[in-house]
Amino acid sequence: MKKHLLIITIILVGILLLPVHVAADNVLTAGQPSVFDAPDDGQLSVYDDSSQAVQAGKHRLYLPTNTPTPIENYRWPTRKLKIYMDTSDRPIQQAFKGAVQAWNRTGAVHIKWCRNESQADIIARDGALSNTGAAPGVGYVSAQLGSTNTEYNPDTNALIQARSTLDASHLDYASRSFRTEVAEHELGHALGLAHAPEYVHSVMIPRNIRTGITHNDRKTLRQLYDVGR
Ligand SMILES: [Zn+2]
Repeated sequence: MKKHLLIITIILVGILLLPVHVAADNVLTAGQPSVFDAPDDGQLSVYDDSSQAVQAGKHRLYLPTNTPTPIENYRWPTRKLKIYMDTSDRPIQQAFKGAVQAWNRTGAVHIKWCRNESQADIIARDGALSNTGAAPGVGYVSAQLGSTNTEYNPDTNALIQARSTLDASHLDYASRSFRTEVAEHELGHALGLAHAPEYVHSVMIPRNIRTGITHNDRKTLRQLYDVGR
């Protein structure tokens, strides 16, 4: 049943010619709240843009290079974004609200809550995330805490929609601040940020998001949305 759903999804994606990026994040639920990366974290691209890249060049959104926190090859075409709350789980709502405030404080984007899902750029939801990736060791349980799906147009580098999911069943055990940090990480993906290597001080390090949004993340987002350093 799930397999069929996946096939249908891939066909749909193929028809729409939209690459889908899924960022999956795992975390230890026993012991420290450190986030693990799923081994298959990456990009499902069913679109070959090599032939059209040159023609579409002038329509492409500007993407900065050498940002402190790595970025994906896409961003929103506008800094004013709408987000829709697609969950009634209070702790998850709090986490998303806190994360939206935190990203808005960077001054790079202005994310506003909206009541109409069809008008939203970003969907904030909760859901049971599958347990991907092997358990890191005996005595540990690895579980996925958050995941973000993005759709973008490879001709223009423009994001079309992002869906961030937090797993309430796992995050209900965590502290409020940790939940918010996981939401910050997922919304970071929804804004175009990629995973950061361990040596960068960033909320986008899958194994350690406890820093929250850092100076590097703020600077990167401001470069990405071209609002100065
Ligand atoms: Zn991630």
